[in-house]
Amino acid sequence: MTGSKRDELIAEVIRNLEMPFGDISFTPVLEDYYRTTIAKRRRRSMAAAVTIALVILAAFVVHRSFFTDTTTDPATFHRWLLPISGMAAVSLTVLAVSLSAASHRTADRTTVVGVVVIAALVAASFRIESGHAATIGIYCSVMVPLAATNLTALHFRQALVAVALSDVIYAAALLTMPAYDTMLHGPALLLMASVSAMTLWGNWRNDRSHRTLFLFMSRDRLLAERSASEAAELREMTALDPLTGIANRRAFEDRLAEVFSKRPRDPAALVMIDIDHFKAFNDCHGHPEGDRALVAVARALAGELRGAGDLVARLGGEEFAVLAPGPDHRDAAALLERLRRAVEKLAIPHGGVDEANAVVTVSLGCVVVGAGERTSRRDALESADRALYASKRAGRNRWTLFEPMPVSEREARLADEVGEIGL
Ligand code: GH3
Ligand code: MG
Ligand code: MG
Repeated sequence: MTGSKRDELIAEVIRNLEMPFGDISFTPVLEDYYRTTIAKRRRRSMAAAVTIALVILAAFVVHRSFFTDTTTDPATFHRWLLPISGMAAVSLTVLAVSLSAASHRTADRTTVVGVVVIAALVAASFRIESGHAATIGIYCSVMVPLAATNLTALHFRQALVAVALSDVIYAAALLTMPAYDTMLHGPALLLMASVSAMTLWGNWRNDRSHRTLFLFMSRDRLLAERSASEAAELREMTALDPLTGIANRRAFEDRLAEVFSKRPRDPAALVMIDIDHFKAFNDCHGHPEGDRALVAVARALAGELRGAGDLVARLGGEEFAVLAPGPDHRDAAALLERLRRAVEKLAIPHGGVDEANAVVTVSLGCVVVGAGERTSRRDALESADRALYASKRAGRNRWTLFEPMPVSEREARLADEVGEIGL
């Protein structure tokens, strides 16, 4: 869900919560969200209602086959089979449409039509028998469409339509029945009216409670989602360098800490990058042009990263860093050369120094921390920096891979230094 859609829903939910208690009409956007959210539950209710209907119909067929003397009155038994098969077919069709319909509107409308068609089939079946059986049938059948509206958990407005149409069909069937005791009409219509009123009352209360509950739950969920996404946005913003759009020093240090805290640690290449003679570039082209060059360099560096965990960051000024977990020394050399060349290939005219520095270039220093090594984060940063300054000293536009000095050499160097200062 997009942020603006969520904000719109939050406003709608809050507006609906402020409406007088008992109002169950939602605005169209909210109605849509409500029905989509509860669609799965509605489908479950539908499946349960149809299962119950089929069990009742099967029980009815079994009952009829025992109580009708099919040898002396086969016609009655067979006449029953027609509306019953019709009801089963309608129930199954409604279920199939509800389960497969892409839109909840289609599913809801089909349910209303299904309830009304079943009411018509029940009304038609009044006429199959006569005498006591028919009287009982008339009294009982009024319950069928009305129970169906509740079992299928119809929304109040649809229940109103389904009940009203079923009642009309029921009353018409009753009043047009031939040769019947008209004394039956009064109680049968009264029964219909009271069952309809009770059904609709129950349905309205259910619908209202569901909607009220839905409003509270949606408000909490949507607000929680909004603050989570705002927090994520904020985290992203505080992790990005505003000028170049790549990670900033803070994000870089977080990732570095993460890589170094892993036990056992993966090997990782740490690269420090510094633009050559950038002060002169700024002096020659001006600060805004310098900013554009920084953006271009950042993009070029980012375009050379291959690994999923690789990160390029702007540490500040014209200094960048790359952290690439995984490579051994040979991979690191290839990565360094790719990075160096990518900036050179931008061919941004330098103009600030001499012909040897015709385009903007970078110097790089890298240390590869092996999997088993106990180098600290600070040592790694220092080694990469030392390698970078070796590149600068050696003439710039080049990379240096930090080589740890063998212990004997380090001791000899220390002895020389001690000798030089006369200790
Ligand atoms: P070296 O090759 O030794 O790195 O030389 P240098 O001139 O790049 O080094 P120095 O650190 O002296 O200069 C860095 C310059 O980077 C200073 C400043 O003008 C420029 N700079 C730092 N931050 C920004 C920035 O955000 N925008 C622009 N346009 N320039 C910046
Ligand atoms: Mg610098
Ligand atoms: Mg520089």
